[in-house]
Amino acid sequence: MRVSMPHMGNIYIPFKALFQRLKVDFVMPPVSNQRTLSLGARYSPEGLCIPFKMTLGNLIEATELGANTLLMPGGNGICRLGYYTRIQEQILRELGHNVEIIQLGVSERKFAGLLGIIKRVSNNASWPKIISAFRFGLAKLNALDMIERLVQKVRPVELVKGTANQIYDKAIRAIDKADDYNMLKKVKKDYVSQLNQVARNSQAEPLIVGITGEFYVLLEPFCSFDIERELGKLGVEVRRTIFTSEWTKFSLFLNPLGINEKNRIHKAALPYLKRDIGGDGWESVGEKVLRAKEYDGLVHLAPFTCMPEIIAQNIMPSTREKIPVLSIICDEQIAKPGILTRLEAFVDLLQRKRRLQTNKARVAI
Ligand code: SF4
Repeated sequence: MRVSMPHMGNIYIPFKALFQRLKVDFVMPPVSNQRTLSLGARYSPEGLCIPFKMTLGNLIEATELGANTLLMPGGNGICRLGYYTRIQEQILRELGHNVEIIQLGVSERKFAGLLGIIKRVSNNASWPKIISAFRFGLAKLNALDMIERLVQKVRPVELVKGTANQIYDKAIRAIDKADDYNMLKKVKKDYVSQLNQVARNSQAEPLIVGITGEFYVLLEPFCSFDIERELGKLGVEVRRTIFTSEWTKFSLFLNPLGINEKNRIHKAALPYLKRDIGGDGWESVGEKVLRAKEYDGLVHLAPFTCMPEIIAQNIMPSTREKIPVLSIICDEQIAKPGILTRLEAFVDLLQRKRRLQTNKARVAI
């Protein structure tokens, strides 16, 4: 059994650590790139969303490396994510790859379901070994997200642009290589300290821009054209509430205890949207309402043909809570230069708005 899974940001690092500890033959496809997208788009049914195309491309590339057991997120939610696994398996078989896709279905089967799948692919490893490997993977996931949060704060205020990104890229590699808790702790401490020492512009008051939208495109930089780094270059502090570690904490452990982190955001969206519409559409509307006073602007990332985000996009302009929103539709037809031009124009607009507000406040004094 040769196990693989699609990419979504850095999620491969904790999974790799988990499977290495369980001695599973685990192979990762190349980091998502143009070939991945081209392969996925070529073999996907017309009109499917970019997460389907990208993950299909990843799975094809994984089978080229010999993988025959593929782990794929999925669930029984309202949107078509629930159909991904079966359709992708059929496409792969039609392409001549004799593979099995195992749907992770974490949202339904929670922690116990995930552990059951790990037990199966690890050839019946003992439960203490599985729990220990899982904990180590989780520790890596938390470390990755902790460093990323710090990088989001440093990027907009660093004096030499690109410094935080260089440190971040090295930190990711070091976390990936760390093979025990001591090393992981050391790596975390070392890179946090490096990031804290980056020379900053003490006068800077960066614009605060939230990023919301569909889960996968938020977390896969290839699909979002690395928008967070680009905004950082423009001197913008990015705030994103979705992190895989947070999602894991709630989805696996706290939701089953009745603690729902999304209650507040759903309540905020209620005057405009009364029910779950699948994917992350409800949360996107709630995010705009909830953070209107906190952010200077909001970037809304929506995969082309994603019904939940299309609904959210159409509701956003009519909320009472006003905040500029830039909607970006992610698809294989979109090119990065066009996105950069739109980002620059958006940041220009926000800076102008900030200046006007500051002048008004001065006149009032
Ligand atoms: S939320 Fe949208 S992009 Fe994500 S799987 Fe569902 S339809 Fe596709």
